[in-house]
Amino acid sequence: MQVLTGKISNFVTRVFGCWHAELSRPFSRGGRAYRKCLSCGAQRRFHLGTWEMEGKFFYSN
Ligand SMILES: [Zn+2]
Repeated sequence: MQVLTGKISNFVTRVFGCWHAELSRPFSRGGRAYRKCLSCGAQRRFHLGTWEMEGKFFYSN
């Protein structure tokens, strides 16, 4: 059930974007900063200068 819920959640997130409130701390990768959703794993660019999220959510795998 957990897996199924996760799949549905992933699908919905891909279509509508992540709506979860819990995001990881910003982390850098390849010279850029990102934050990751703790619920569905969606990642989003994070601008360290303005301290704001930017762009759309995406999945790295
Ligand atoms: Zn999420």
